Amino acid sequence: MTKICVAKRLKVNGIVQGVGFRPFIFQLAEQYGLKGEVGNTSSGVSIHIEGLAEQVASFEADICAKSPPLSYIVEISGQSDTVRNYAGFSIAKSKGGAKISTLISPDVSVCGDCLAELLDPDDRRYHYPFINCTNCGPRYTIIDDIPYDRPKTSMRHFKMCAACQSEYDDPNNRRFHAQPNACADCGPHVSLYDKRQNRIAPKDPIGKATELLKQGYILAIKGLGGFHLAVDAADTDAVRRLRNRKLREEKPFAVMAYDLESIRRYALVEAAEEKLLTSIQRPIVLLRKKNPNRISKEVAPNNKYFAVMLPYTPLHYLILKQGFAALVMTSGNLSEEPIAIDNDDAFNRLSSIADYFLIHNRDIYLRSDDSIVRNTAGAGRFLRRSRGFVPIPIFLKNEMPSILACGAELKNTICVTKQDKAFLSQHIGDLENLATYEFLKLTAAHLKRILDIDPEIIAFDMHPDYLSTRFAQEQQAIHKIQIQHHHAHIVSCMAEHKLEGPVIGLAFDGTGYGTDGAIWGGEILIAAEDNFERCGHLAYVPMPGGTAAIQAPWRMAVSYLRNAYGKGFQELGLPVLKEIEIDKLTIISEMITKGVNTPLTSSLGRLFDGVAAICGIRSQVNFEGQAAMELEMLAADTAGSTYDYEWLSDDTYQILPAPIILGVVKDLQDGKSVADISAKFHWTLICLFVDLCTVIRKDRDLNRVVLSGGVFQNSILLTGLINALEKRKFSVFSHQQVPTNDGGIALGQAVVAAAVSRR
Ligand code: ZN
Ligand code: ZN
Ligand code: FE
Repeated sequence: MTKICVAKRLKVNGIVQGVGFRPFIFQLAEQYGLKGEVGNTSSGVSIHIEGLAEQVASFEADICAKSPPLSYIVEISGQSDTVRNYAGFSIAKSKGGAKISTLISPDVSVCGDCLAELLDPDDRRYHYPFINCTNCGPRYTIIDDIPYDRPKTSMRHFKMCAACQSEYDDPNNRRFHAQPNACADCGPHVSLYDKRQNRIAPKDPIGKATELLKQGYILAIKGLGGFHLAVDAADTDAVRRLRNRKLREEKPFAVMAYDLESIRRYALVEAAEEKLLTSIQRPIVLLRKKNPNRISKEVAPNNKYFAVMLPYTPLHYLILKQGFAALVMTSGNLSEEPIAIDNDDAFNRLSSIADYFLIHNRDIYLRSDDSIVRNTAGAGRFLRRSRGFVPIPIFLKNEMPSILACGAELKNTICVTKQDKAFLSQHIGDLENLATYEFLKLTAAHLKRILDIDPEIIAFDMHPDYLSTRFAQEQQAIHKIQIQHHHAHIVSCMAEHKLEGPVIGLAFDGTGYGTDGAIWGGEILIAAEDNFERCGHLAYVPMPGGTAAIQAPWRMAVSYLRNAYGKGFQELGLPVLKEIEIDKLTIISEMITKGVNTPLTSSLGRLFDGVAAICGIRSQVNFEGQAAMELEMLAADTAGSTYDYEWLSDDTYQILPAPIILGVVKDLQDGKSVADISAKFHWTLICLFVDLCTVIRKDRDLNRVVLSGGVFQNSILLTGLINALEKRKFSVFSHQQVPTNDGGIALGQAVVAAAVSRR
């Protein structure tokens, strides 16, 4: 049988540049004895391949199956080409001026090969804390501009030595074109300082830093996307000191442990969680605590979970392998400011917190906080999507004009679109201070530059007072589109699943500005991309003191109790009412009567707060959603029954809180446990919304339900609602690629703006 020689032209789109893709193709071609060439193009990589048909087919199949870890293939297209009788296979030089792809890889953890070299006394990079290769290391955070080449990164200050250069130039080497390639002779270095900026232990800064951590000191450690503040997680005094200095009273701290075995000593790790923990993105994963455990109670008080990650830089490995149960590794910032990335900035801002600084001289151009994931309702769900994932785009169902969407206020991220891709930024933070606002501006400018786009449209929230709104208003000569908060939430989830409207959207969160000026947050929308109708919502109740009620859930308790019982609520003798001074109660009650500084709200987040306060869980919070979270944590595993529920059907369905509140109070007075009340409250909401969706399905002939908004971080509600809706044969969609909280809202804003502008 004669063997037939064929030739093909393959085009690969996706993240395929700067990730070792061309050397991978080169090696694959050699392996199959094929000839031709591979080169970069504006949309990815183009391959001419020729040889025996069977070998070409295997080669093609292997491209997807064996692609390098940092690559992300969106599409491969192939067509037959003419056989040109190449002498061998080669990597074509990138042509100067040729447009190159703007898809940049995120920063990922040190790979297995590099880790083995790091710990091998015979390797030339033994214990070198910046070891990396084409398959691992920093990317997004060290890039200043495109194309992604060393002179456009913070590695430009380090000239490679001869040994590093020869690796960089060799297509058969793991470090071929690895832009951050370096060694102890030519690359960046770590050094240790006390807080007066005196350099100490110049011979062994990492060894000394480890020793200081063991003595209970707080260290600021420069990492991949910014500084961490670190203490020994088993040392209660040290953790408490960190809480006091960081002005962070109760919010859980993340911890880092050397390996899975160490984590299993204090937390339960299921198979799906193990996969998340060990993935190259190395997010923080929420894991159920095991009791008793060696970790200090101060790390995550009143919480069933630890927030845990594995080391992701060589430096982390060198510190952690010195035998810590775990280290607290929390963002290097004061309270809610952006994390420090610059050495001087760190000394300025963190010297009131940290005793020592372990810094290095590889600059971070763009900060990127750790990502946070929780495995729930059958999938890993982002609480924060940042390092390791940004800037991988969300692929949209249509091409769109270039849009900059500014996000909301809390947990802000922004989004820019290019063709059929939406690039959601890293976590920017709560836009409540100037530093975060500056970071928003910087991120917008940076994304525009590295993605090479000039947005035609700017999309932003309807809230008049958000700093993201101010930012949008200040932009000149650009089409501005204002978008309702909950509409953006629902469309964000629709975009992930490439859905067309109309759908039934359940948008549940703490706060969002409504079209009537009220504070929405328990919304049932009939939503399409370009418009929505408010089909139902929680009935309005007053929110005494406005945003002050977010910090003080007892105010919401008063509001709901008054709504359910009238002025006689004070006679109920509930602990929450006894706890508050009588004068204060009277003032709040008066405010409600007179309607002074009491905006109306339909927020489900506030209902959670109110019920938590009525149950005596807490009347004040240290961070938004704390009371609601603790109510969830306390819930018993099963609920047998529901509280009564009802809604009014006018133009819209209005769900009445009073029957639920009456039920909760009666159970309290009957001495039922808070665990049972919480479970019953959750189950009530699930049944209520399933019933209401069933009514709407009949009215409107809609069967798809889309879930979005920060309240869906509540695992009981999310899991319960998905299961119950699916049991009634609804198609249910929830977030998996972006956070359900306001960290994902910019994606929805962008897609709404595109749809509105098309119309
Ligand atoms: Zn590596
Ligand atoms: Zn070198
Ligand atoms: Fe929201």
